[in-house]
Amino acid sequence: MQRVLALFLMMTTSVLAQSTAKTAHHKWAVVIHGGAGVIERSSMTPEAEKEYRAGMAEALHAATSVLDRGGTSLDAVEAAIRILEDDPNFNAGRGAVFAADGTNQLDAAIMDGSNMKAGAVADVTSTRHPISLARAVMEKSQHVMLAGAGADAFAASVGLEQVPPSFFFTERRWQSLVRELKQEHLPIPSRPAGAPPAPDHQAFFDTPDNHKYGTVGVVALDRSGNVAAGTSTGGLTAKRWDRIGDSPIIGAGTYASNQSCAVSGTGIGEYFIRYTVARTICALVQYKGMSLQAAADLVIQKQLAPIHGDGGVIAIAPDGQMAWSFNTPGMFRARQAEGGSAEIGIYRDEP
Ligand code: ASP
Repeated sequence: MQRVLALFLMMTTSVLAQSTAKTAHHKWAVVIHGGAGVIERSSMTPEAEKEYRAGMAEALHAATSVLDRGGTSLDAVEAAIRILEDDPNFNAGRGAVFAADGTNQLDAAIMDGSNMKAGAVADVTSTRHPISLARAVMEKSQHVMLAGAGADAFAASVGLEQVPPSFFFTERRWQSLVRELKQEHLPIPSRPAGAPPAPDHQAFFDTPDNHKYGTVGVVALDRSGNVAAGTSTGGLTAKRWDRIGDSPIIGAGTYASNQSCAVSGTGIGEYFIRYTVARTICALVQYKGMSLQAAADLVIQKQLAPIHGDGGVIAIAPDGQMAWSFNTPGMFRARQAEGGSAEIGIYRDEP
C-alpha cells in the first residue's frame, strides 16, 4: 500500500511540475513573410536578393529583440511590420503598389490571440505605418475596422505620423502600374505630386516586376504563451474602385487565437477572403487536432492551388509549432525560435 501511495505521489508531482513549467515559460518564436509570387532565381539579381534577405533579417531581428526581452507577441508583430513597411522592396507602406488612379491605398490588420481583439484598416493613403493604425483601432476605438479618409483622420487624431502621398512612391512600382494599365488599355494617371521626375534611362521600363504579391506579415508567440498576427499591404497593382483585399479581413488574411494558432497570408486576396484561409487553418488545428503544418498545407496546397488561388501563409501555435506553406514558385520568408538560429528563404527549393 505504501509503495502504491509513494508511486502515486511521484506521478502527481511530476505531472504538476510539467504543467507548472508549461505555464511559467514558453519559448518565444516568430515567423515573417514578405509576399509570395513568381519569385525565381532567374528573375532576381544578386543585389536584389541580398536586399530582400537583409530586409527580412532586419525585421526578424526587430521581432526577436522584443520577444527576447520578455515583450509581447503583439509588440513583436508591430515592430517587425513597421520595418517592412519602411522598406521600399516590399509591397506595404513605402514601396506599396499603385492603384489604377495613381494612389497608394494601404490595408492592414492586427489580432491579439490572448483576447481575440482585432483592429484593421483599409484604403489608407496618408498614414506612414498602417499596422500601427490597425493597432490603434483595436486599442483606442470601439471598432474593429476603419476605412479611407476616416481611418486616416482617426490616425491623425491619435497622433500617428501622417505623410504626403509621394512618401510611398517608388519608381519600380510606378512602372509596374504603367505596364499593367497599358496591358488593360486603361488611362495612365499623371505621376503623384512630389514624386521624383521620370528617369530618362530604359532600365525601369524593361524590368518585369513579377513579385506581385509583396505583402508583409508576421506571426509571433511570446514567453507568456500568447500568439498574435499582423499583415500590411498595398494590395494588387492597378486595383480599382477602392478594392480591398484579404489582408485587413479578420479570418481571411489575418487571424490569431490562443485556442489554435496565428496566421498571416499573402496572395490573390479574393480567394483568401472566399476560403476564409486564416480562420480555416486555425479551425482545422482547433477542432480536428491537425498539426499546424498539415492544416496550412491542406488549405494552401489542396484547396487553393487547384483553383489557382495563388499565395501562401505563415503560422504559429501557442505550443511553439511554426509553419509556412505556399503554392507559388517562391515566398519571402523567415523564422526563428528561442535558442535556435534564423532561417531565411525565398525560393521553393530552400528548406
Ligand atoms: N493578399 C493581398 C491582397 O490581395 C496581396 C498580396 O498578398 O500581395 O490585397
